[in-house]
Amino acid sequence: MVIKIFLGLVLAYTIYSLLPTIYYKYIYVEDHEEGKLTLSFDDGPNPLYTLKIKDILDANGVQAYFFQVGEKVQAYPELTKELVASGHHLGLHCYKHSNPALWGPIKTYKDMKAALDVFEAQDLRPNYYRPPHGWVNLSMIYLIKKWNLELKLWTCLPGDWKEDLAWEKIYGDLEKEKKKGGLVCLHDSNHSINSKSQAPKNTIRALEEYFKK
Ligand SMILES: [Zn+2]
Repeated sequence: MVIKIFLGLVLAYTIYSLLPTIYYKYIYVEDHEEGKLTLSFDDGPNPLYTLKIKDILDANGVQAYFFQVGEKVQAYPELTKELVASGHHLGLHCYKHSNPALWGPIKTYKDMKAALDVFEAQDLRPNYYRPPHGWVNLSMIYLIKKWNLELKLWTCLPGDWKEDLAWEKIYGDLEKEKKKGGLVCLHDSNHSINSKSQAPKNTIRALEEYFKK
C-alpha cells in the first residue's frame, strides 16, 4: 500500500512538473533564424545595472527580453518603465525568487498572480513568462494561457550570475549562439532584492565587446 502511494506520488510529480520541464528545456525548439541572436536578461530590475545594459542595447538598436521579479518592480518601477519606453519586451519571472521545483498549484498561482498584480498596478503589461530556473509545471502552462503570456526559456545559459565568470566566456557564448540563431539568458542582477553582486559587470563587458564589431 505504502509503495503504491509512493509510486502514485512519483507519477503525479513526473506528469505535473518533471515532464513539462524536460520538454520545454530540452526538446521544444523556438522559431529561430541563423545569424540572429536574441538577448534576454533575468532577475532585475536592479538600480546598479539595468539601465547600463539598456543603454548598450539602445545604442545598438537591439530590443531584448527582460524577465523581471515582482518585488523588485515594486521597489524600482521606474526602471521597468524605462525599459518598456525603449521598446524592450517585458516578461514576468516571479514575485520573489525561489526554485519552483516543488511548487504546487496554489504556490504557483500565488507567486505568478502577485507578480502580475505588481506589473498591472504600474500600468505595465508583461507578454512573456519565464519561471525561475526554467522549471515549468502544468499550473504555469494553464495560467500563462489564461493570462495571455507566452512561455520563453533559452537556448544558452552562460552562467553570468557568477562574479568570477570571465567576460570572455560570456562573449564566446554570444558569438556561438549568434551563428545558431539562439536565445541567450543573461542577468542584470542576482536573486536578492538588494543585490550588490558585481557579476553584471562581466555581462556588460561581454556585451560591449560583442557590439564593438
Ligand atoms: Zn531568475
